[in-house]
This record gives sequence, structure tokens and C-alpha cells, in this order.
Amino acid sequence: MSVQVYLRQSYDRHGDELAVDRQRGDCLDLAARRGWTVTDVLVDNDTSASGKVARPGFETLLTALAGGAVTAVVAWSLDRLTRNRRDTVRLIETCAAHRVTIALVRGSDIDMATPAGRMTADILASVARHEIEQKSDRQTAAYSQSAAAGKPPAGPVPFGFTADRVTHHPEQAEAISEAYSAILAGASLAGVARDWNARGLTSGRVRTGAVGNGTPSRWSGETVRKVLTHPRNAGLRSYRGTIVGPGTWPPIVAEETYHATVALLGDPSRRVAPPSARRLLSGIAVCGVCGVPCNAGRTMPRAGYFSYRCRTAGHVARRGDDVDEYVIALVIERLSRPDAAELLHDRDKPDTEALRARELTLRARLDELGTMLADPDIPTATVRAAAATVRGELAEVTEALADAGRVSVLGPLVDADDVAQAWDGLGTDRQRAVIATLMTVTLHPPGPGARKFKPETVQIDWR
Ligand SMILES: [Zn+2]
Repeated sequence: MSVQVYLRQSYDRHGDELAVDRQRGDCLDLAARRGWTVTDVLVDNDTSASGKVARPGFETLLTALAGGAVTAVVAWSLDRLTRNRRDTVRLIETCAAHRVTIALVRGSDIDMATPAGRMTADILASVARHEIEQKSDRQTAAYSQSAAAGKPPAGPVPFGFTADRVTHHPEQAEAISEAYSAILAGASLAGVARDWNARGLTSGRVRTGAVGNGTPSRWSGETVRKVLTHPRNAGLRSYRGTIVGPGTWPPIVAEETYHATVALLGDPSRRVAPPSARRLLSGIAVCGVCGVPCNAGRTMPRAGYFSYRCRTAGHVARRGDDVDEYVIALVIERLSRPDAAELLHDRDKPDTEALRARELTLRARLDELGTMLADPDIPTATVRAAAATVRGELAEVTEALADAGRVSVLGPLVDADDVAQAWDGLGTDRQRAVIATLMTVTLHPPGPGARKFKPETVQIDWR
């Protein structure tokens, strides 16, 4: 049996300061009348007017309560015991979980061992929680009403949407959705821009300034990037560059697709293929002598073919069409095997549903911490430390989601009935991404006087 006495000296706002000595005397008297032996007397002295003072005594008390060894807490009154509504919720929930009686000099006992006591505790805790919610509502409203409501921002109608900024523009939204898939599968921003221009899609903006001639702007890699990195496509409302919550419009793509794409575009080292190139293996195939990537040369008019050459010293020069044909055959054979799908999913695909749920939870927790930061009763350092921890975990989850998105590089081929046909339908960018995901290609010198293509001189290492 362990009984804790908790005392708090507080800032005297109303001139009715209750000295710690008097609190102590009254509390010890109460314990003695009940026949309790006091184990510890915990004292906090938060006489600061700012209210931003840590309360080590209160935290020690909560830890002891959570340990399960305490049977009763004695305090002068409930408002001496808890300083704000959040403390009230924490204290009451902990006491209820461990059947700890709260005994007050001024006020009736809250005896968690009885149904009536637990009901009182429930009511006190829900009133406190309700007040917290109302307060956080007011704060969010003050900070940005329309962002909090998830309403679309004013300004030009974004690409992908109609004039109400909520309804999808059928053709544009479809183009956006396809662009995310293409980027995740290894296409370049410039490639998407070419595609959108070829389809006659316009952003609705017209050229202005020096080149202003009233015609709609053509897409470039950079303008496509601006569209694809905007959270609105995932149905998320942002405010000054930060995602503040769900929007009132339907998403064009799933949140994990959006995050995977942003991660890929934001960090070039995570791209699955080297930058866009005209030839299948430029920059992918490496020299068998020095290990440096090979570039594709120009097609020789007399010979009628191009070569892959070692970038540094010309150690190797291999006829390009032969190497391409050999590598393509291997890729198609590999992805046509019955176990291809199983291999891909088992090895790489994390549980995106679970990750996504975890991500939403972490975001909600960050929002909550953001609100707590505005509460003068809660120590700022504590909130910041908690937020840093949550942000760290959020970064890990976001990265795992990005990995899940990269699985889509191989997905379209693995799922295809006819892999060869699906391969032919991919652009060079995406074919390059598939090769870079599956294998490393090393080109060895063909040997003196060799005219016939020798497969053994092209070394394939499956990843
Ligand atoms: Zn070399």
C-alpha cells in the first residue's frame, strides 16, 4: 500500500495564495484520519506567471501511478493536483486504469474502486477533453479558416480540375494520374511534358511577357513537376507549402502514389534509372575493364550501327543493336517466368495499407502537437521533442511508401499477359528503368578479330 501526497505552489493570481506548508499539513491530516501511511510527498513549485514550467513532481506522480503500486493520491483540491485540462485527462485516466483513489481536502474522494467513482472520473475526464477540443478548434480557425475546412484555395483553376476547383477535369485528371504511374515506372518529366503537348493538353495559362502572344503555354519538365508535386492531386489541402489535412475534393491519385512520386522527384539519387537517354543502355551498361558507364556513339553511316563505348579510355566498344537485342531477350524471358510476380511482391512490396494508416496517424499526432504548442500551460520543449520523434518516424514511413511505389516499375510487365508486347509499348525511359531495376550489364571486350556476337562477353548480374 502506497499513498502519495502531491502539493503545488502556484503563481498567486488572485491573492488567495495557499502556502505549500498549509497544503502539506491539511493533506497529512487527511491521510492520518483515513489511517493511511504516506509514502512520498511530491512538491512542485511553479510560481512563474508564464505557466511554462515543467512539473517534475507531477510527472513523478504519474510514473508512480502507472507503475501500479500506488493505492491513493492525496491533494488539497483538484485544481492543485492538475494545472490544466490535459493534466486532468492524463491523471484521471491513469488513476482509473490502476484503481487509484484520489482523496481531496476540499472536495469528495474519487474512488476508482467503485462504479460511482469511476463515473465521476469519466465525467471529469470527458469535460476536460471536450474543452481541449473546443480550444483546438478555435486555434485552427484563427490560423486559417479555409485551409482547416479543407476548401480549395482561391486563385487560378489548377490543372486537372474544373472551375469549381472540386470536380475533376476528366481528360486532365486522367493525364495527371497516368503521369504519376509513368514517373514511378521510370519516365522523365520531360517525357511527360512531350506526351501532354502531343495530346494538346494546356494548362489554361497563356504566354505573357516577352514571348506573350496569347497562345497557351507548352508544358516543360519544370511545369509538369509543379503540377505533380502539388498535394491537391492526392486530395490534400496545403497551406503555405505544408499539408494541413484532407481537402473537400476527391483525390486524383492515392496518397502513397503522390508521396512516392514526390520522393522520387525530390532526390535524383533515388531515381531507378539514369537520366533520360535515347539509347537503351547508355549510362547503364558499364565497361568491363574500368567499371565506368558506357555511352552510345552515333550511328556510323558506313557501318549502319552505333556502339556502346567506355566513357573514359575507350576500353570497350560493342555493337549496340546486338547488345540491346540480347539484353531485351533476357528481360522478357525473366519477366515471363511463372514466378516473376511472386518474386516481385514477396521481395519488395511492403504493406502499403498499413503504412498509409500509420502515416495518417502520425500526421494527426503532429497536428495535435502543433495545437499543444499554442497552449501556454504546456512546456514548449516537451512538445518540440515529441514532434521531432513523430517527424522522424513519419520520414521512415514516407520512405517505405516511396519504395512501394517503385515496385510499379516492374508491375506493368509482370502483370502483362504478353510481356514482349507490353515491353514494346513502353517508352525508352521506362524500358531503361526496368533494366536498371533488374540487372547490371557489364560489357567486356569482344576479343581480337571477333565478328560474331558472343553472349558470354556481355555479363549480366541480376539484382
Ligand atoms: Zn573503361
